Amino acid sequence: ASSLFSAVPLAPRDPILGVTEAYNADTRPTKVNLGVGVYYDENGKLPLLECVRTAEDQLNALHAPRGYLPIDGIALYDQAVQKLLFGAQSPVITGKRAITAEALGGTGGLKIGADLLRRFTPEGTTVYISNPSWENHRAIFEGAGFEVQTYPYYDAATHGVDFDGLLKCLKEARPGSIFVLHACCHNPTGVDLSPEQWTQVLAALQAAGHVPFLDIAYQGFGDGIEEDGAVIRAFAATSLPFFVSSSFSKSFSLYGERVGALTVVLSDADEAARVLSQLKRVIRCNYSNPPTHGAQVVQRVLNDDTLRRQWESELGAMRVRIKAMRKALVAGLAAAGIDRDFSFIERQRGMFSYSGLTADQVEALKVDHGIYAVSSGRICVAALNDKNVETVARAIASVLAK
Ligand code: PLP
Repeated sequence: ASSLFSAVPLAPRDPILGVTEAYNADTRPTKVNLGVGVYYDENGKLPLLECVRTAEDQLNALHAPRGYLPIDGIALYDQAVQKLLFGAQSPVITGKRAITAEALGGTGGLKIGADLLRRFTPEGTTVYISNPSWENHRAIFEGAGFEVQTYPYYDAATHGVDFDGLLKCLKEARPGSIFVLHACCHNPTGVDLSPEQWTQVLAALQAAGHVPFLDIAYQGFGDGIEEDGAVIRAFAATSLPFFVSSSFSKSFSLYGERVGALTVVLSDADEAARVLSQLKRVIRCNYSNPPTHGAQVVQRVLNDDTLRRQWESELGAMRVRIKAMRKALVAGLAAAGIDRDFSFIERQRGMFSYSGLTADQVEALKVDHGIYAVSSGRICVAALNDKNVETVARAIASVLAK
């Protein structure tokens, strides 16, 4: 008998999770998974940060009951997010122009932001994402009911940004369009705009009355916590309303706890209060209110001087290790006899590198060497360590020499 679901087609597999499934099934002991989107430590393990362990011990000792949180989450958490993004003394905080709601990771922040925007933007508003971008950007905004297009971003020829193309798109897009921008450590390319380019982008956004939606999922992995937040502060210094989705998945290694936030900066305190009331409606009919544990941990760490210093030092160590692995990979490729210039890998920021490898080369890496990457050539530099980086470099060299 046919049911409502008998003709439902099988959805395509997630390309990145598919890589990990294939990696798990590989029995070669020298296999390496560069397809992941998480930070692994020098032993190839997902770390549990010391600051998190301490905060969790403190929380455990409290044996606190688990009531519902407010719709917008833990107030001390939301305030800590704002301070981290804007700086404690920022006029957007003191002027009550910023609203923040705890969200289910950065993904959740994007989703509730997208739903909110859909309610208050004209029919036909287009969302622009970078070409390429984190693959979920398109799905989230299309899922919220927007038409999604891309703006030029990565220039494979220079391993840099097609900045002219980006500016042209900003100028030609219908005024009032939504632009999703990676505030630092662009995923998947690792290529960021320079401060001068950001100034021009900001001016173009303002001139056209576009709505910027900044996504910051890797704060602290580029040049430092403050440094990586500079773009958000530059936006906050204007009168332009904008959205920020932020995530602690990577910076606290709390992936599974789903700790993120949506922050919206508005024109004044009154507008902010009204928008917050609408954001709460969006949250209420999505998942009612957010979970307690992860945000409680992050809030404790950010609001305690000792734990905060510990977090900064642990995040700093992750950043330094990734940079060291970029260097080691470039050196390893040169040592393996590759004369192509791979120095761009050292200039890229964050967890990822667009290696320039083709889909065929990625396939050969897998088949011949048990080294797994995304077919776009994106590799997770944080999955490299002292024990595997030479193997990886030699394998890439042999694939390139084919
Ligand atoms: N935005 C970007 C650019 C990302 O790379 C990611 C994670 O991969 C996210 C958002 C989502 O982060 P979360 O796991 O906190 O939902």
